[in-house]
Amino acid sequence: MADAGEIASPVQELLDEVHERIGEITDGSVATYIPALGKADPKLFGLALATRDGHVYESGDTGVPFTIQSVSKPFVYALALHDRGLNAVLRKVGVEPTGEGFDAIRLEAGTGRPLNPMVNAGAIVTASMVDGDDWGQRFQRILDGLSAFAGRDLSIDHEVLASEERTGDHNRALGYLLRNAGTLDGDVDEALSVYFMACSTLVTARDLAVMAMTLSSGGVNPLTGRRVVGTDTTEHVMAVMATSGTYDFAGEWLLRSGLPAKSGVAGGLAAVLPSQLGIGVYSPPLDARGTSVRAIAACQELSSRFGLHLMRPVTGTTSAIHRYLRGDAVSSQRSRRFAEREILRTRGRAIALCELQGDLGFASTDVAVRAITGDHENVRWLILDLHRVARAEPVAVNLLDTLVRELREHGVTTVVAAEAARSPLASAEAAFASLDEALEWCEDALVAETGPPQEADRPEVVPLPEQDVLRDLPAGVLEALAPLFEERRLASGEVLFSPRDEPDESLYFVVSGGLVAQVMEGDPAVPVQVASMGPGTAVTELTVRRDDPRAYRVVAAEPTVCQVLTDAALKRLERDRPQAVEALHWAMARSLAARLRRADRLLAAHVASGPRPGKPERELG
Ligand code: GLN
Repeated sequence: MADAGEIASPVQELLDEVHERIGEITDGSVATYIPALGKADPKLFGLALATRDGHVYESGDTGVPFTIQSVSKPFVYALALHDRGLNAVLRKVGVEPTGEGFDAIRLEAGTGRPLNPMVNAGAIVTASMVDGDDWGQRFQRILDGLSAFAGRDLSIDHEVLASEERTGDHNRALGYLLRNAGTLDGDVDEALSVYFMACSTLVTARDLAVMAMTLSSGGVNPLTGRRVVGTDTTEHVMAVMATSGTYDFAGEWLLRSGLPAKSGVAGGLAAVLPSQLGIGVYSPPLDARGTSVRAIAACQELSSRFGLHLMRPVTGTTSAIHRYLRGDAVSSQRSRRFAEREILRTRGRAIALCELQGDLGFASTDVAVRAITGDHENVRWLILDLHRVARAEPVAVNLLDTLVRELREHGVTTVVAAEAARSPLASAEAAFASLDEALEWCEDALVAETGPPQEADRPEVVPLPEQDVLRDLPAGVLEALAPLFEERRLASGEVLFSPRDEPDESLYFVVSGGLVAQVMEGDPAVPVQVASMGPGTAVTELTVRRDDPRAYRVVAAEPTVCQVLTDAALKRLERDRPQAVEALHWAMARSLAARLRRADRLLAAHVASGPRPGKPERELG
């Protein structure tokens, strides 16, 4: 970096630009029908953006408190839905746009329901439906709820409250109308008090942005991490904000900004872009319909500059498939003897490996599923690696599970690689903590199916003359070596060696069973398998790095028999029959070279990132 100074945030710069430009607008007038609101300074203008990870960008007067007024309505509606359930609330308050102002006097013919919870009549009813035995408890529930949405303790503006109470006859009239229609129970004045208090709650533009983001993220406050209401509830609330949040301007509002929103007569506005953004605006001058003029302009400008319209198609830049490979292009870290390697080389395509990534929703999973089904020819094993999947919607799990069952009917076995071997797919055959272990399992299955028939209960035994390193030795060498071998038997879990200070170049040949090389990783350290050695392969301390500070070790994965050429025996041999040692070294070098070639192929497959099967996804938008 050029210098140590702070790098200006590009979002902040854009926001400041929008703030400056929209600040020049001087249209509209401050609400005066509630006299205390008339004192507001028309020049005040605050613009705040809250992000999903709890960052809040602020420009202008974002810390100035004002009364929330009707911006409280969606949040109070959320609390009523949470406390009573959707159907109970729907029986009392509808969800149809009115096409009229915030104080419309219309109730639905036949049912006596207010048309929606965003107009005063509906909000008076929803405020009366939150939990609480009396109006005091209900109000406390609302103040606590609004505070939880904002992530801090909110309070009331008593001057505005008194002013609302004094001049609230229109709202009182609505209350009596509602009680007469059987929609509002109990004392009208008490119900009105709760409603007026909710409207008189003090917030800032910053608070509104955080409250909006809490709705947008499905009910979890991005600052406190606290869940306020459920995700179903936020879906319902944002839907009603989209259709009725700005009263008789709701249609054009949604058309132009594409952001579900709610306005209030003090000049506040909260807008949401579901799962991405919460916007809070404060600017007191209102248009004829009671919505802040600058708030409308700012949201429209932000929406078009940032491309925030809800109906905007999402560009298909990230595929759900990170990598798709067949088993001829990758292999596990298991050392296998020549015959097995040949099977994997010639028949490896029977294994397909699909690494999924990102957020799996309907569209991305559907594309991935079609890509997999379009390339299942000759596939017998499928590995779904979910390590890069951040989140899977229920629909994604459902589609993948159905795919796994469908594939099984076509003879394909599916295994999952996922964090801590926890597979969300119930129908997968097995789950592994790492891709490597999943790959090894599939390779074993392929080898077992293809290789020479094994006697059922007898473990595989590879005698010395058939060992990979030894089988191509020149005539006579193995005979010369034979008397030097020592047998070493290991119980499952027994450590064969961990690198010591004293160099030891003993050679271990696995005759039966299997060894794994492990590295201690993480804090607290846990052994992570980095390689495994089956019958027919050899290992020495030279193959696990002696100069690495981490603890490498080689452990028996099952009861294992090795034939060992000890360090001492090799030194003796070097003295007595140097040509035999030279031949052995060449054989070791050939075997290592073969492993290197395999590692190179693996690396190339990684670099190429694997071709995706099927048609490339078309770019949208
Ligand atoms: N308290 C105000 C009223 O009931 C709220 C109206 C609004 O913000 N649109 O009149």
